[in-house]
Amino acid sequence: MTGDNMKKIESITLDLLREIGENPDREGLQNTPSRVAKSWEHFIKGYKQTPEEVVGDAIFEELCDEIVIVKEIDFFSLCEHHLLPFKGCIHVGYLPDNKIIGLSKIPRIVDVYARRLQVQERMTQQIADALQRVLNPKGVAVIMEAEHLCMQMRGVEKKASFMVTSAVRGVFEKNQKTREEFLSIVASRRS
Ligand code: ZN
Repeated sequence: MTGDNMKKIESITLDLLREIGENPDREGLQNTPSRVAKSWEHFIKGYKQTPEEVVGDAIFEELCDEIVIVKEIDFFSLCEHHLLPFKGCIHVGYLPDNKIIGLSKIPRIVDVYARRLQVQERMTQQIADALQRVLNPKGVAVIMEAEHLCMQMRGVEKKASFMVTSAVRGVFEKNQKTREEFLSIVASRRS
């Protein structure tokens, strides 16, 4: 964000504080507008990033035909309907086609999409498509489990505050056995 964006967000936050009946001059709130602006800068970093950029040259030739899985990648994002957080964990698997990706790069791809305004369904698809595009493996599978604070905090729909979504590409889509292998490895995590 530019300095202008930051100033604008500060002034909007000031207005928000006034509109909800607060006194923005009281001690605890004096620096809130600037803290909020700085937080937003972080929340939406992903708009300026691409998966290609964060992966860089961390793709390596490797003869490997077993599924590679990275489990329980933590993430935080913001729901675009309420601007409230949703958070949880993501499991990503792929079947290499003579190329593997540096392990730390998968969480970074997740953050490219988490740090935007999101809906969980779209974010799951975007992560699967991004990995398919940058690595071109035989297939990709993504499972995302998240709790939505917009549901929990607003109370009414409490029972539906936890959501699981998935996206499969390539062999994981076509081959049930490959998909089941991925699911059973992911499910074994809390044993
Ligand atoms: Zn929401």
